[in-house]
Formats: sequence, structure tokens, C-alpha cells
Amino acid sequence: MILPKNNRLTPGQLNEITAIVTEFNCKIQPIVGAVRTIYAIVGDERDELMINRIEGLEYVDRIDRIQSPFKLMDRRSDLAHHRWQIGNVTLGEELLVIAGQCTIDPKNPQYFLETALAVKEAGANLIRGGVWKPRTNPYSFQGDAGSLEILMDASRRTGLPVVTEVMESEHINLALDAGVQVLQIGARNALNYSLLRQVGRAIAGRTTAVLLKRSIHNGTLNEFISAAEYIAAFGNPNVILCPRGTQPTLDGYRNHPDESMTPLLKEKTWAPVVVDPSHSVGKAVYVPAAALAAVAYGADGLCIEAHVSPSHGIGDDPKQAVTPTVLTEMIVRARALHKIVRPQPVSTRS
Ligand code: PEP
Ligand code: MN
Repeated sequence: MILPKNNRLTPGQLNEITAIVTEFNCKIQPIVGAVRTIYAIVGDERDELMINRIEGLEYVDRIDRIQSPFKLMDRRSDLAHHRWQIGNVTLGEELLVIAGQCTIDPKNPQYFLETALAVKEAGANLIRGGVWKPRTNPYSFQGDAGSLEILMDASRRTGLPVVTEVMESEHINLALDAGVQVLQIGARNALNYSLLRQVGRAIAGRTTAVLLKRSIHNGTLNEFISAAEYIAAFGNPNVILCPRGTQPTLDGYRNHPDESMTPLLKEKTWAPVVVDPSHSVGKAVYVPAAALAAVAYGADGLCIEAHVSPSHGIGDDPKQAVTPTVLTEMIVRARALHKIVRPQPVSTRS
């Protein structure tokens, strides 16, 4: 919908705009009001070249789009009926719980295996473990490809699928070859369009899913869903959106929980939303409340850092990881709350 700066376009302006949209196989339909006339673009109005050319005209105030820029991830797209499973959970139906260590310590693999068994016992559906780690400081531990074997060993022993972060094409190939079922794109790479394309291309034709974090730079709704669209555009739409807290924050928290983003995401996209309360607050003691808040806001799942002995962990684990005892209680409460807040299937509504 084109809104001119004045109350209506002059005949010359209308001709100019009509000529532009005709190049893109569209037409203009004026909608005449008592005071203002606005101009509908009839046809596919999503072409950026066309929009940019019209918005560049000095007599055009703005274009309000009716069609969504997300052809696949929009909740009105045909994919809105797309359902898929991770382990024994159908996304969007039961609460998906991802839990495990921030970082696998390749020198002490027993901790990861114990953690994996403990999070399964606590009721988690998917095990997380960082093989390659994005670290602010280049001298901090960067992860170790050898940890991939430890991750897959935990998957075999527990029978649960696993998720790990990938940051470059080599990681993607190694993770897929090893049998990793969910690839994580971290908050630092959430707007790395080259990586998003590589992941989309790599998972096309597979059942692999992607856990896509919200950008560390407080990514907007549009940026977040568009990043998912980059991946889905290659043919596999199994993308989970993962809000993980924003900056700046209150003193005392690492990040600020962004659980209130969930209802906004759900208005625009059908993609499941799995919130990461661990990075959202950054301190183990606050994680249970943040997890329940996320579920209350409508999250389809939680991604929680847990460790059998947090003080022996590396990366975020000493500060952020909850113990299996805390995790068990959290999962029970989160699942109970999810049953209360989850919209009832349409057929059971009165
Ligand atoms: C992580 O999951 O350990 C991690 C680094 O997360 P984020 O990208 O959200 O900081
Ligand atoms: Mn972490």
C-alpha cells in the first residue's frame, strides 16, 4: 500500500508509479477516501527492487506492506501445518527440554557423560554440549573437535538426540557426519548470512533441525524471523527460534530475559520458540524463575545449561549451570505450567 506525502498523487506521479510496478508485473489500484487516496499494489509486492524504487520517490511517504516478507516462516504460510519431532517430542505440542553442559571438557569426558545421564533422568528430551565455542577472548578455551566423539557417545548411551553449536562449514560437515540431530547457530552468528545459507544448504533433504539463537545485538523480530527464512529457503524448515536474553541489562544479570518476545514471534511465525533462560540471566540461581516465566509467556521449550558438578565445568558452566536436582524440579514445574498455558486444540474449545 503506497501512502503519498500529499492527499493524492498527481496524474504524472501516478503514471510514474504505474510504470515502475508494471515492470514487476504488478498493477496500481487507487483506494479513494474522503480526504486521502492511497494506492494498493496488486500482485507480489515483496520485490525489494520495486519497493526501493517507489520509496525513493520524493512524493512517497512510505509503503505499508500487507504481504509478509517471510514467505515460508510466516504463520499464514502453508508451512504453518508443518510438525516435526525431536526425539519423542512433537514440537509445539509437548514442552521440549534441552539440557546439558555449556561446554564439553575434552580432558574430563566423564563429567559430560554423567551430566548427559543425569539430564535424561531429570526428564530432558535433547542433550546440549558445546564442542566448538564462540569466546569473546581469543585466548579462552575455544572448544575441541575431539569433543564431538564425547557428545555422540553421550547420545548413544542415553538414546537422546544432541545439539551443538557450529560456527563454520567444517563444523557443519563434521557434526552432520557424526550424526548430530540439531545444529545450533549462536547469538554471535545469528545474523551471519553466509553461515545461515551454509547451514540451510547442508540440512536440506535431511531430518536435521536448527536451534537459531536471537542475535546478541538485540536482534529485532524481523531480523530473527528473516534469519530463519534464510535457512528454510533451502528446503528444510525445521528451525527453532531461541530467545536468549538481551543487553544492556540490570546490574546482577548477565543479560536481560527476553521472554516477552515469544508472543510477538508467535503472532508472526509458526516456528517453535524454545527459550534459553540460562544465558538470559547468566546465574544458576535465577534460571528456574526465568524458565517458568518463559513457559508462562508461551514458550514451546527450554534450553538449560546443567552440569553434575558446575564448579568443575568450563565455559559458562561454573556460574550458569544448574545441578541435576534443580533441573529435575524445574522440569516438573515447567511441564505442569505448560499444560496450563498451552492453547487447547481448536476441537476442544467451547
Ligand atoms: C551457548 O549456548 O553456550 C552459547 C554460547 O549461547 P549464545 O550464543 O546464546 O551466547
Ligand atoms: Mn553457554
